[in-house]
Amino acid sequence: MSRRPALFRGIRPGAFPGVPIAVLALALAGSAAAAPAVPAAPAAAAAAAAPGDPPPLFDPRRPPGRELVTDIADGFTLAAVGDCIISRPVSPMLAGDRGLAGVVRILRDASVTFGNFEGSAIDIREFRGYPHGAVDDWALISTPDVAADLKSLGFDLLSRANNHALDWGIEGMRETGRHLDEAGLVHAGSGENRALARAPRYLETERGRIGLVSMASSYTPMSDALPPAGQAPGRPGVNAVRTTRLTVVTEEMMRHLAAIREGFGSLRRDCPPAGAGRAAGEGPAGPPAASTPRDLELFETRFVVGDRPGYSYLVDPLDREENLKSIRQGKQHSDLLIATIHAHEEGGGCAEPGDFLPDLARAAIDAGADAFIAHGVHALGPIEIYKRRPIFYGLANFFWSDMQEPMPAGLHERNRELLARAFGDPARATDADLTALLNASGFDDALVFQTVIAVSRFEKGELAEVRLHPVDLGYGMRLTRSGVPRLASPATGRAILERLQLLSRPYGTDLVIERGIGLIRPSR
Ligand SMILES: [Zn+2]
Repeated sequence: MSRRPALFRGIRPGAFPGVPIAVLALALAGSAAAAPAVPAAPAAAAAAAAPGDPPPLFDPRRPPGRELVTDIADGFTLAAVGDCIISRPVSPMLAGDRGLAGVVRILRDASVTFGNFEGSAIDIREFRGYPHGAVDDWALISTPDVAADLKSLGFDLLSRANNHALDWGIEGMRETGRHLDEAGLVHAGSGENRALARAPRYLETERGRIGLVSMASSYTPMSDALPPAGQAPGRPGVNAVRTTRLTVVTEEMMRHLAAIREGFGSLRRDCPPAGAGRAAGEGPAGPPAASTPRDLELFETRFVVGDRPGYSYLVDPLDREENLKSIRQGKQHSDLLIATIHAHEEGGGCAEPGDFLPDLARAAIDAGADAFIAHGVHALGPIEIYKRRPIFYGLANFFWSDMQEPMPAGLHERNRELLARAFGDPARATDADLTALLNASGFDDALVFQTVIAVSRFEKGELAEVRLHPVDLGYGMRLTRSGVPRLASPATGRAILERLQLLSRPYGTDLVIERGIGLIRPSR
């Protein structure tokens, strides 16, 4: 069951005069081009061939269309979780923590387990790189033994394309990759250039070959990998899906924005004129517009008129096309393919995914993906079943470590005023003090600490069932105990699943709760 793509939901036709309409057209053209570009079945073509027709291009006994078939052994299960912000090994806690042990049992029991590894696993004592994290965010750091720990907890596949992949620079990205490789974890989404970052990576299992393509629409500036161009080499980084955000406002709101812009226009009009003979007060801004504009740029934000306030996103057509090609190639070379994206972008309402995601997710499945997994918004998002393949629009946090040590100077210095209010002298504040202050305003919500493990079972090459195991990360526990996944209590578990039920309903998803577990069984 699915609803129509909502790429431009909330925006009236004609809201994008001039250049933007071309961008919209390109985005839509990309949508059409994303349908599996598989040539017609050669066997059928050969049967219909008339005498004198050129011979078929493909061997009829090896039809290329077959190469997108899902060919996994019956009963195959994929366990998927969201962001893994883990700073130290947790398996030593297993013996004394039944909730964690229950979670790990589910991860280990699955045929394959996936998560988004968000951070850098580096040995700070010998590290030769430097912190490069965003100025207003933590530079996430894990000890190197976290890699082997994740493997022992049951993880097999990790996505690397996210906004924390280069917190410790390219050196950190490379060292992390080495530790994950040594632990036997397959990871995709970052690399020495764009082709390597976009490329599918593969896990060999007894039930089949599993492919993974990892994308990020949320990434820090300059962390997107580049291809070589002429004499210029490429750049290491993550596999980016570039988006342009439009802020959707009502007509009434636009009228006020236009007035504000007009007010700021007077700043330019009061400048001395460049040409002789022009009177002061006359300038390029001109008189106020007679009618409300349909789109407007103000304070480096692009506003467009729509039915209700929110956000809308345009996807770069090249990134879209190249990633869909990578997914198709990945499926041709695997038995089941997972496409995943790190996307902080939200739509207008609560937990509503950015409006480019439904379109991208369905296009990925059309191109051969067997599951589409989004993460990054730090709270659970809806679930949709499209062509008997699961789409998870937000798998929230799975590990959420508030212990980040060491923390580079940037975040402390940026928050000197806040630290002075709390501690007098900012220099007295520890890394934990700063984290506590920032968390008090940014992550003071139980939803940040609630998630599910989504276990998708496949039969005959199709999704047979999704089982959703509710998980509680221990909001309010001491730092050494919180941010660790444990099976949720019956009451918390029910609240998590009922919320997911509500969020998923608009997508036509029938989620039932049985004995504390959420179940989705796709209808034909
Ligand atoms: Zn993120």
